[in-house]
Amino acid sequence: MARKSRKKGYKSLPCFSYQGDPNYFEFADTGYKTPCWLWRGTIHRSYGQVCIKGIRYSVHKWMYEEYYEEVPLGLVLDHLCKIKHCGNPHHLEVVTVAVNIARGG
Ligand SMILES: [Zn+2]
Repeated sequence: MARKSRKKGYKSLPCFSYQGDPNYFEFADTGYKTPCWLWRGTIHRSYGQVCIKGIRYSVHKWMYEEYYEEVPLGLVLDHLCKIKHCGNPHHLEVVTVAVNIARGG
């Protein structure tokens, strides 16, 4: 419960409305089919964080849901490129938690 009231870490989040601006990312060729989209903003526990209209999202989840569809409840997104702050929706796959752990998170 103590963690819930400690929101200090999120105060520096960039707050904006997504307008498809690619400047939020830098692009890196990591040998995957398409370049990784590396988040330039706040990173928490290796994952990019974004705040849209006051709600906090993981960047990769937000991008996936912008491009494809909502991630079903109970499932998670696995980074096929293994770069956790990559927001390229093409590098993400919806899997169960068990599969994600088996792949090494
Ligand atoms: Zn990637």
